[in-house]
Amino acid sequence: MSKIEEKLFQDRYRVDSGRPHIKIKDPDHCTECLEKQCTVCCPAGCYTRETSGKVTLVTDGCLECGTCRIICQDSGNLEWEWPRGGFGILFKFG
Ligand code: SF4
Ligand code: SF4
Repeated sequence: MSKIEEKLFQDRYRVDSGRPHIKIKDPDHCTECLEKQCTVCCPAGCYTRETSGKVTLVTDGCLECGTCRIICQDSGNLEWEWPRGGFGILFKFG
C-alpha cells in the first residue's frame, strides 16, 4: 500500500499563474480564527499556520476536494471557485 505522499506524487498540477482559484477574503479574520481548521484539514497542505498567527494559502497542488470551503463555511472567509478549464489538478496519472 502506497503512502499518501506517494499517491499525491502521481498527480500533476497546472498552475494558472496569478489567478488562484481560492482566496482568503479577510486575512485579519484568519488571525483571529482560533481553530484555523483549514491548516490541518487540507489534504494537500495548502494552508500554513504562521508563527505570527497569520494563515498563508498557496493553491498550487490543490486537489479540489472542497474541504476548506466546508470547514470555513461558518466564517465565510473563503472565495472558492473551480480552476479555469485546462488548469488545476490532473488525476489521470494516479
Ligand atoms: S478556517 Fe477560514 S477563517 Fe479560519 S483560518 Fe482558515 S480560512 Fe481563515
Ligand atoms: S479544496 Fe481541498 S485540497 Fe484544495 S485547498 Fe481546499 S482543502 Fe485543500
